[in-house]
Amino acid sequence: MPPSPQSLQYTAIALNDESFMLDIIKRSQTTFCNDPWFAKVKQSCASSSASVSTSASSPSAPAMSALKQHTYAVRNGVVCRLQGDYFAPVVPPSDRDLQRLILLELHSSGLGGHLALRKMHKEVSNRFFWPGLKKDVEKFVKQCVVCQAGRSSTQKPVGLLHPHDIPSRPFDIVSMDFITGLPLTARGNDAILTIVDHFSKYITLLAIPATTDAHATA
Ligand SMILES: [Zn+2]
Repeated sequence: MPPSPQSLQYTAIALNDESFMLDIIKRSQTTFCNDPWFAKVKQSCASSSASVSTSASSPSAPAMSALKQHTYAVRNGVVCRLQGDYFAPVVPPSDRDLQRLILLELHSSGLGGHLALRKMHKEVSNRFFWPGLKKDVEKFVKQCVVCQAGRSSTQKPVGLLHPHDIPSRPFDIVSMDFITGLPLTARGNDAILTIVDHFSKYITLLAIPATTDAHATA
């Protein structure tokens, strides 16, 4: 009789130890043999001695579409899914603890190094399979506090303000502005030069022709 799901406790996993990982997956597959999706896959494997292609038939079970067009097989006593040319061990969808541990190990451990989403997804799906793996990876990476803290802004840093020097006497510092596009006067002026003294706030207005160049203005 398989142990109840509550009895399966993981303290750590060693991804680089293949036989250890296979043993963990085996235990998980035994414990969660009644998981609806996994039971279906397992049954389809049992009905064929080698590999089988299964198709979705029960709409009631979640993620059943993952069964479509994929090859599952039992390798070394472990149900696997063919990914490219590699048989990836299947983690039963109900074993959320093991899925989380795998994500933790591949992302947050010293081995993981906080891979970005695409790399992380590739890394996980190269080793394991479970329905909804991609979504789980996405959620996991998005919620990782270390990654969030490390995410830098793509905006250019805001420059420092450059306040004007403080004037010590009248007409020490003045600012000038031109008001143009005015009607031409009898004296041939069609613009106003405004000069503001920063010390006294005294404003001087001069009628000038808009064609006045910098030299004439000075
Ligand atoms: Zn991270």
